[in-house]
Amino acid sequence: GVGIEAISKSYGGIPVLRGVSLDVRDGEFLTLLGPSGCGKSTLLRIIAGLEIQDGGEIAIGGRPVDGARPKRRDVAMVFQSYALYPHMTVAANMALPLRMRRLSRWQRLPLIGPLLPGARAATARIEEEVRRTAAALEIGHVLERRPGQLSGGQRQRVAVGRAMVRQPAVFLMDEPLSNLDAKLRVTMRAEIKELHRRLGTTFIYVTHDQAEAMTLSDRVAVMLGGELLQVAAPQEIYADPADRRVAEFIGSPR
Ligand code: ATP
Ligand code: MG
Repeated sequence: GVGIEAISKSYGGIPVLRGVSLDVRDGEFLTLLGPSGCGKSTLLRIIAGLEIQDGGEIAIGGRPVDGARPKRRDVAMVFQSYALYPHMTVAANMALPLRMRRLSRWQRLPLIGPLLPGARAATARIEEEVRRTAAALEIGHVLERRPGQLSGGQRQRVAVGRAMVRQPAVFLMDEPLSNLDAKLRVTMRAEIKELHRRLGTTFIYVTHDQAEAMTLSDRVAVMLGGELLQVAAPQEIYADPADRRVAEFIGSPR
């Protein structure tokens, strides 16, 4: 799981996160739900180590993370914008995290690298894992294309695939479906749910789309103005919103 303990963050003296605490359980699908600007992405980036908090602590798998070594965190993040490298093929995009982890700096050199001991075998294993993951996501047939030659849904799958090949303890997804049309969004939503069921990994998912939060999540954390107002199962948030602000945002009867 992920322990989030009293996380605070300001930009230019303006508080964006005001002491956010939350325990995400092992294998849980937890969604941060809140309006634009409430601090969802900032919190996710802090969990990923892409941003450093002003105060508070993050623990992954029961151990506080070392702020000095963000790259060593056992998490993989899928960004809203996909963040694929446009000049690389789909296969190369998906293989990149594994190459960075398993090949040395010298083994990664384009011309000399493959000639170095162990490089070919390691590369073959990486390619096999990429093929397997791509097949599972039904993008096996586009591996040699570049991101610009893909549909939005395919690009989204590549971004998920690139996170999957790392086999992280925690998946962080920041509005991964927001660039898709409504129909595809519903399809991909089902796929993400299935992915979670299959992998049994902890997911922290960010959205401002209530329907998405309610159908995907074990628990939803409702966020407003840098604070968590309520953390509960979807039906509980509907039936028993913690206060008027939650009720208004959710549009529940209370
Ligand atoms: P959205 O749903 O629109 O993506 P969000 O909930 O993800 O919104 P954040 O991106 O976390 O919101 O931003 C929270 C607040 O912090 C916003 O007011 C934003 O303008 C501000 N902010 C975020 N990053 C920075 C930054 N690098 N420098 C200054 N202000 C920032
Ligand atoms: Mg955001």
